[in-house]
Amino acid sequence: MIARAVFLDRDGVLMEDANYVGQIERVRVIPGAAAALRQLREAGFKLFVVTNQSGVGRGYFPREAVDQIHEHLAQHDIRPDRYYICPHHPEDGCDCRKPKPKFFFEAAREYGVDLAHSYMIGDRPSDILAGQNAGCRTILVLTGVGRETLARNEVRPDHVASDITAAVEWILTRNASCSQA
Ligand SMILES: [Mg+2]
Ligand SMILES: [Zn+2]
Repeated sequence: MIARAVFLDRDGVLMEDANYVGQIERVRVIPGAAAALRQLREAGFKLFVVTNQSGVGRGYFPREAVDQIHEHLAQHDIRPDRYYICPHHPEDGCDCRKPKPKFFFEAAREYGVDLAHSYMIGDRPSDILAGQNAGCRTILVLTGVGRETLARNEVRPDHVASDITAAVEWILTRNASCSQA
């Protein structure tokens, strides 16, 4: 069976982007994020967080701190099927840092995801480009640095939404009209 997925950026989408968050004390969950993920799951979507955590590669915090933050998010009912984490420094030239689509293709292989019927939600140009490079529909949210991204006008998402709640509403509305057609 073919699965559909929603790929999500973490910082600025699920929790506030506060510049290299490496301690759970600094985590601020964006209101509505847990409920939005629950709605997507109930609609049958797989949920994957794809996150660039160059704070590791820059030596700001250890790799384990990233896992601790994800355990903390789980306590706030944010439990994606999987986290895909790029820990590298932007200058490492790795093959997994967004806008590279490597993790999307990995998820597609491992979970049988149909990327053309899947979505990427993010707040930076690299999120939108990664989703497009993977062949997904893309949604720019205006939380995090989304307003700056919109103002820079460098990327063309399929949709712009005020936050994750509005983004998920748009996905589920499209979804409903597709299955009726
Ligand atoms: Mg972000
Ligand atoms: Zn990487």
